[in-house]
Amino acid sequence: MRFTYCPDCGEKLIMKEIGDEGEIPYCNNCKKPLFDMFSTCIIVLVKNRDNVLLLSQSYISTQYRNLVSGYMKPGESAEACAMREVEEEVGVKLDKLEIIGTYWFSKKGLLMIGFMGETSQTEVKLSPEVDRAEWVHYDKASALVHPKGGGSVSAILVEENYKRITENKTKQV
Ligand SMILES: [Zn+2]
Repeated sequence: MRFTYCPDCGEKLIMKEIGDEGEIPYCNNCKKPLFDMFSTCIIVLVKNRDNVLLLSQSYISTQYRNLVSGYMKPGESAEACAMREVEEEVGVKLDKLEIIGTYWFSKKGLLMIGFMGETSQTEVKLSPEVDRAEWVHYDKASALVHPKGGGSVSAILVEENYKRITENKTKQV
């Protein structure tokens, strides 16, 4: 979102050259630039050995399954947000959390921070936001989430997990 008016004082913003950033909307009253704003979300592939947890959430999609995701709150680290969302949405405590990458989700203008989280827990306790959650074998997951072409971060994480598990199994043979 690009600001036209200052959210603090309501003054109409001018465009001003800010260092290397180029022309940025600027409040001449508050003397500050107002950079374009966007929301940041975390998305977590929750796994238990060879299985991944896929969610059915009709308010997001009736066609595809989802991973745990949620908006970050001010004052919270991305890691803390990931742990919190997993616990809130599916009642799972993670033993291990690893950041995989960050992705611009152009369809919604969001920055998404992708994680993989491991748990030894199998039982889930669903929030009202989640209709159903099911442990699915890692090689079946990519067919169930939104395909990669549409900028799906779920697909990227599912694929990364598949790659890691199959590479590991090859090494063990
Ligand atoms: Zn202002």
